[in-house]
Amino acid sequence: MKFVAALLASVALASSVPAVGAPPHQADTVDASVPTQLPRTAIPRHYAITVTPHAERLTFDGDVAIDLEVIKPTRELVINAADLNLASATLRAQKGGAALAATISLDPRGETATLAFARTIAPGTYRLAIRYSGEIHTQANGLFALDYKNPEGAQKRAIFTQFEPADARRFFPGWDEPDYKATFDLTARVPAGEMAVSNMPASASRTIDSGFKEVRFQTTPVMSSYLLFFGSGDFGRITKMAGKTEVGIVMGRGNEAKAQTALDAEALILPYYNEYFGTPYPLPKLDNVAGPGQSQFFSAMENWGAIFTFERVLLDDPAVTTESERQAIFGVEAHEMAHQWFGDLVTMAWWDDLWLNEGFASWMASKATKHFHPDWGEEFGAVGSREGAMSQDALATTHPIVQKVRTVEQANQAFDSITYSKGESVLNMLEGYAGADTWQRGIQAYIKAHAYRNTRTDDLWQAVEAAGAKGLTQIAHDFTLQPGVPLIRVGPVTCEAGQSRVILTQDEFSSDRKPGSFAPLSWHVPVRLGVVGGQPVTAVTSGRKTQVTVPGCGPLLLNVGQTGYYRTLYPAAAAEQLRANFTRIDPLDEFGLVNDQLELSEAGYQPMAVGLDLVAAIPLDARPELLSLGNSYWSGLYRQFDGDAASQRLIAALIEQRYAPVLAKIGLDAAPNELPTVSTFRPDLIQSLGEIGDAPVNAEARRLFAAMQSNPAAVPGGLKQTWLSIIAANADAATWEQLHAMARNASSATERQNLYSLLGRTRDETLAKRALELAITDEPGKTVSAGMITAVAGRHPDLALDFVLSRWSEVEKFVDLSAKSRFIGRIASGSHDAATIGKLEAYANGNISATDRKPIDQAINRIRVRLGNEGRIKSEVSAWLRTHANAPAPDSQPVPSKTERG
Ligand SMILES: [Zn+2]
Repeated sequence: MKFVAALLASVALASSVPAVGAPPHQADTVDASVPTQLPRTAIPRHYAITVTPHAERLTFDGDVAIDLEVIKPTRELVINAADLNLASATLRAQKGGAALAATISLDPRGETATLAFARTIAPGTYRLAIRYSGEIHTQANGLFALDYKNPEGAQKRAIFTQFEPADARRFFPGWDEPDYKATFDLTARVPAGEMAVSNMPASASRTIDSGFKEVRFQTTPVMSSYLLFFGSGDFGRITKMAGKTEVGIVMGRGNEAKAQTALDAEALILPYYNEYFGTPYPLPKLDNVAGPGQSQFFSAMENWGAIFTFERVLLDDPAVTTESERQAIFGVEAHEMAHQWFGDLVTMAWWDDLWLNEGFASWMASKATKHFHPDWGEEFGAVGSREGAMSQDALATTHPIVQKVRTVEQANQAFDSITYSKGESVLNMLEGYAGADTWQRGIQAYIKAHAYRNTRTDDLWQAVEAAGAKGLTQIAHDFTLQPGVPLIRVGPVTCEAGQSRVILTQDEFSSDRKPGSFAPLSWHVPVRLGVVGGQPVTAVTSGRKTQVTVPGCGPLLLNVGQTGYYRTLYPAAAAEQLRANFTRIDPLDEFGLVNDQLELSEAGYQPMAVGLDLVAAIPLDARPELLSLGNSYWSGLYRQFDGDAASQRLIAALIEQRYAPVLAKIGLDAAPNELPTVSTFRPDLIQSLGEIGDAPVNAEARRLFAAMQSNPAAVPGGLKQTWLSIIAANADAATWEQLHAMARNASSATERQNLYSLLGRTRDETLAKRALELAITDEPGKTVSAGMITAVAGRHPDLALDFVLSRWSEVEKFVDLSAKSRFIGRIASGSHDAATIGKLEAYANGNISATDRKPIDQAINRIRVRLGNEGRIKSEVSAWLRTHANAPAPDSQPVPSKTERG
C-alpha cells in the first residue's frame, strides 16, 4: 500500500517493444503483451546485492551480480536505474568465457541505464556484475533515512527502504517491474552496534573492520523487485511463534513495550490467514519494522517477510495513542499481512491491476477485523469506505478499477480510493453474490494455481466461477472495467396477496453531470431488497427496468446488508415511510440509508430535506456509530456555513441540544468496560462541541491545557490530541507559542509530529502563516513538514496553496519524490474560491504532462461541484433549520442506553 516516484519520468512506455516469445515456462511470469518500460530481451533469475551505507553522508555503495537469461540476440541490455552512478558493468556467460565490459549510458528521465556491448549477445544464461553508488534519500523513496532521538536523548539516524511502485531502481540497477520475479541474496555492511533487517533471517554475520559488520541474509523466494526490504539502526526486536512462523516487531530500541499490541495482532492473524488462504505463509519469519517519521501518502508497506510501518501507526503508546489508533494497529497488520499472499505470493502482472493487491488486502483486513473484533463496528467502517469511493467515482474524473497505467507517475496515482475502497466494496458485493464458502474455495484455488507468479484480474474471476459462482464474471466485469456508480430508481410499490411488487429502473449517479445530460452506463447489479422487518431477496438488475417481487408489505428498503455498490433513489412517499419506520430498520441499514440519502440530496437528486430528515431521525439512544454519523454531519454543515453566523448559530444550537447530553452520559473520560465504539466516538464528540464553541467543553480544554503545562500526564493519552486540537484551533499568539514549546520538547517522535501538525490547525490566519513558515525550516524534521502544510490547508486551503506555489523550491524537498501533483491537489481541494481553479490550471499547464495531471483535475472538479451546489444546499438547509432547529430530538430520552458492553 503506497505511492511514490518521479514526476519528471513521464516516460514513454512500451517503446516499440516487439512481442518476444519467452521460453514456455515463462509464459505467465513474463507476458509480453503487458506494457513495460524495458525491452524484453532478458529475464533476471537471481540477484546477489551487497550494499555499504554511509548514513552520515547520505550515500551508499553497491555491488550487484544478476544471473539472467538472454532470450533474444541483442547488443544491449536496458535496465532500470534512478539516482545511481554505475561505475562498471560486465557480462560473463555462465558456461565460462571472457567477461564483456559494457559501455554505460544513463537516461535520468526514463530511469533506465543502457549497457551496450561490443558484440551481439546470444541467447543463453549469463551473470551481469555492476558496481555502483547511490543516494540515501530523506523522504521515503528507495533507501532513506529517518532521524530521531534515542531513549538517552541522543540524535540518531536509522535507514529503511521503500520501493513500491518503482523505487527499487534507486537501490540497485535491475529489472524493476512486478512481473520480473527473481530470488534475492542481500548482504549489508553496517555499524557493528546496529541491527540489520531484511525479508529473510540473517544467515551469517561477521565483523569486518573498525566497528563494522557484514550481515548476509538467506535467499528470498521468487518475488517482485518492489518487495525487497532492508533496514538498519539501533533497533530492538520482540517475537512470538505463530505456528511454525516467528512473528516479530522491530522498533527503535526502548520502544519494545509499545510494540506488544502489534505483535499480538500478528500472532492472532497469521494462523487465521493460513487457514483462509489454504496455503501456509511460506517464509520462516514475518517482521513488521517500525520507523519514526511519516509520509504524506502511505503508512505501511507489505515487503515480504519484513513489512514496514511508520511507528506513529504501529506503536501503542499510552501517552498519545487514541482508541481509533489502537484499533488501526490491528487494521494495518491485517492489511499488510493479507498482502503476504495477495501481492507477494501472487502478484499483479502490471500496475493496471494494482487493485488486485490493494482492494483485496483492504477487503481481507475488514474481514479479519470483523472476525476477531466484532464489537469494533467494522461493518459500519466498510460503509464509510464505500461512501469515500463513491464520492470520487461519481465525478467525471474517476477511472475504472482496472485501468491503463502507462507512466511511473500514473502508477503512483493508482494508489487511490477507487483502487482501495471501491475495490474492497466490489469484492464485498461479489462475495455476497458467490456465497462466503464458494468465494473462499475460489480464492484458495487462485492462490494455489498462481503462487510465485503474476496474474491479471480475470484469473481471479475464473477461479471463483470455477468454484461455483456462476455469472460472477459478468457482474465483476461491469464493476471493474467501467467506472461510475449505478443508481437504482425505485418505482411505486404495489402490494397484493402479501407480496410487494416494484419496478427498479437503472441509471447512473453523478455529482457533476445533470441527469439526462449524459448517457448512463449499464451494469449487472445484484440488489438485495425487502420490506422492513421482512425476508430480503436478491435480484440482479440488468438493462433499464427490472420487476421484482418480495415477500411482505410495508416500507421497501434496498441494499439490505449494505454490500451493494450503488445508490437508491426512492419516491418521496417511500422515503418518508422509511423515515417514519426508521428505528425498525437494522442499525447497519440505518447507517447506509442515511449516508445514501444525504448524498442524493447534496447532488440535487432530491430536496435536502429528505436527507436532513433522516439524520434528524437518528434517535439519541442509537448505536455510537449512528450518533457519530449524525454528529459529524451537523459538524460538517457548521463549517460549510462559515461566514453565515445566523445559520451557524442554529446548527450549533442543534448540536448542543442533541449531543451535549450524549457527552454528559458517556463522560469526558473512558469508563471501565465501555464499548470500544463509545471510546472511538468520544473524541469526535468533544471535537465537534469544541468547534461550535460549546462553553463547558472549551472551558475544560483550557483547564486541561493549563494543567498540562506542569504535568504532561494531566490528560489521558487517548484524548490528548483531541483537547489540544481545540486549544490549537482557538489559539492566540501566546498559546500558539506554548504549543510550539511543547512540540520542541516532546520526547517521542509520534508526539512531536502530532504537536507540530497541531500548530497548523489554527483558525487565526497570521498564526497559520507562521506555521507555514515554520514548516519549511529544519526544525520540525524532514518528514513532518509536509504534514504541517496539509494541516494548515484544512482551514486555509487557499493560503496553503499560495504558499506552496510561491515557495515551491523550498517546499519541494519535504514532499515525497514527484508526488507533487497529489500533494498540491490535496491541499487545494477544500477550497471555496473560484480563483483557485485558475491557479491549479496554470500550475498543471506549466508543470505536469497531460498524461499525469489527474489529481489536479480531480481537485478542480471537486471545487467546481462544491461551488455549483453551494447556493442550493445552503438555502435549502437554512430553510430546514428555521423550521426544525428547535424541534425536540426523536425519542426524547436524552441519553444513550447501549453504551456499555452487554
Ligand atoms: Zn496495501
